[in-house]
Amino acid sequence: MKIKSYLMLLMASTILFSCADTAVVNPTETGEVTQTSDFDYQVDEFADIKVLRYQIPGWEDLSLKEQKLVYYLVQAGLSGRDIIWDQNYRHNLKIREALENIYTTYQGDKSSEDWKNFETYLKRVWFSNGIHHHYSMDKLKPGFSKAYFDTLLDETGTELTGEAYEVIFNDKDSKKVNLDESKGLVEGSAVNFYGEGITAKDVEEFYATKKSPDPNRPLAYGLNSKLVKENGQIVEKVYKSGGMYGPAIDKITFWLEKAKGVAENEEQAKALGLLIDYYKSGDLKTWDEYNIAWVQATKGNIDYINSFIEVYNDPLGYTGSYENIVQIKDFDMSEKMSVLEDNVQWFEDNAPLMEEHKKDSVVGVTYKTVIVAGESGDASPATPIGVNLPNSNWIRKEYGSKSVSLGNIIEAYNNAGSTGRLQEFAHDEEEVALEKEYGELADKLHTALHEVVGHASGQINPGVGETKETLKSYASTMEEGRADLVGLYYLMDPKLEELGLVDDYEKLGKAAYDGYIRNGLMTQLIRLEPGANIEEAHMRNRQWVSAWVFEKGRERNIIEKVTRDGKTYFNITDYAALRDLFGELLKETQRIKSEGDYEAAKNLVENYGVKVDQNIHKEVLERNVQFKSAPYSGFVNPVLVPETDESGEIISIRVEQPVSFEEQMLDYSENYDVLPLEN
Ligand SMILES: [Zn+2]
Repeated sequence: MKIKSYLMLLMASTILFSCADTAVVNPTETGEVTQTSDFDYQVDEFADIKVLRYQIPGWEDLSLKEQKLVYYLVQAGLSGRDIIWDQNYRHNLKIREALENIYTTYQGDKSSEDWKNFETYLKRVWFSNGIHHHYSMDKLKPGFSKAYFDTLLDETGTELTGEAYEVIFNDKDSKKVNLDESKGLVEGSAVNFYGEGITAKDVEEFYATKKSPDPNRPLAYGLNSKLVKENGQIVEKVYKSGGMYGPAIDKITFWLEKAKGVAENEEQAKALGLLIDYYKSGDLKTWDEYNIAWVQATKGNIDYINSFIEVYNDPLGYTGSYENIVQIKDFDMSEKMSVLEDNVQWFEDNAPLMEEHKKDSVVGVTYKTVIVAGESGDASPATPIGVNLPNSNWIRKEYGSKSVSLGNIIEAYNNAGSTGRLQEFAHDEEEVALEKEYGELADKLHTALHEVVGHASGQINPGVGETKETLKSYASTMEEGRADLVGLYYLMDPKLEELGLVDDYEKLGKAAYDGYIRNGLMTQLIRLEPGANIEEAHMRNRQWVSAWVFEKGRERNIIEKVTRDGKTYFNITDYAALRDLFGELLKETQRIKSEGDYEAAKNLVENYGVKVDQNIHKEVLERNVQFKSAPYSGFVNPVLVPETDESGEIISIRVEQPVSFEEQMLDYSENYDVLPLEN
């Protein structure tokens, strides 16, 4: 799972902290005392996007061997960058090449509105790894005319024809991932996981014939392949060396071999070896073996994720998007969070779940804060702020999982945040004060609870399938909402104080609840176009959780809707009662998952999570105009520059920051373009 959910929550408070306000946060609470405050976090801002930089604190403390390991893993990650472009849409690589050729060779007027709009469009395409918005999934609309584009093509001698050219301007393939069943989940989605003429029914029938050798340990069929129709037959094109994306995969394994050569220990080397085997064979049994080895390789200071992992971009939830994150352990924060890990069974035992849905023993959950050293694929430029893997439920159950919070990324978000949004949307001064004092810690603990306790909690009834089969397109939002609810329920529990995680659990809980409701019912709407429905799984869950407790508590006025000077506020009047409602909804959400109750999931999400209150939305957008900060953020990566001796041996690696977003994007396209334009 990726913890995009928290990006929002975080932004709720990040946006709210002014630069001056962040300074009041105790540095030991941020775990980032080594970062310098005069670091220039922002690189660029365009359309609805802010591009930030992040640092790698502690880089100098790593041994050269560890630095090499990081470097090789980052290179492996970047070698697969083109894969995510092609996965996102079949014409993306062609379009990118054409746009970049224009951008780097055009000699005409670069001060015109048209050119600026062209530049913005290209930056948006870079940011989204393709022509669809990374978050809303809508196709990006160019701010220039077809006629102007034709001039650019012509004057730079750039060739872009046929569908790849037309699609920039027409209505075709308008949604990257479509979850509206009436339009056809596969036919309505532009992602490149299914070939022409394939329907959701075809896919389900195809995978229904695949039977795992051990039904209790199901293989992740479809994770690393594209289904296409050839002569009326459905054929699986597997991502592997010699197969689909083979040229990029060979580069990835080249660097992984080098990484294996400097592995910190045997377990880590074994996992890297299995990952290489998997890339070579495409064999899903090896994929499982790799995940088991990877989850058991916990001793090193360096870790990574690399492969086809999250399935959110597949409307049917089979195929994984290419992703890479290289991580260095953050010992200070990890220690703090391990407290939750040590007590995970207590949280399970005391959860407001039906007894039969509780786990007798919660296995091997780990939680770490890490320092990111490089990202690629679906994790870049837009990044999760935490990761919990592997996704396979049986491996999680038998071997546990690794869960990390990306500390320096979160830090950069916080420090780059700004403005008086908090003052604008908070109901009263107490709410503002609590947010300033406890908001950041509340966010951190919510993230930790969501991951360590939330995703690990609960069990599916015997004989009930995985949620992707039972809850289908609602599985992701239901799981994220469930994990959120576990966090919310415990954020106001005296246990947190008892464990020494906070000095006043009531104040912490209040800050957390205020922030969640403010975001779920109002501020997250700044990311949505007027009139749009909520499509993204995490945004949906934040709304269905908030809207559900608001409605259920309405009679008792637990969350009061206040109108003052024509502005709406949500004021929580009874925090303990709200906590009970979170508990009640958690119990129901777990029941839905445990029983695989599709109808109930559908009702919950469709009734509370999808439609937007148009009046509130309009008001929120108006009130937000004054702040103007772009709602989405992402990152350029620090550049790792190796220095070699005469024999080519790396003798040191230094960290540099890219000068601009376009510089890094062009550099990546030049140095890591290994795939043909059509795959
Ligand atoms: Zn999650």
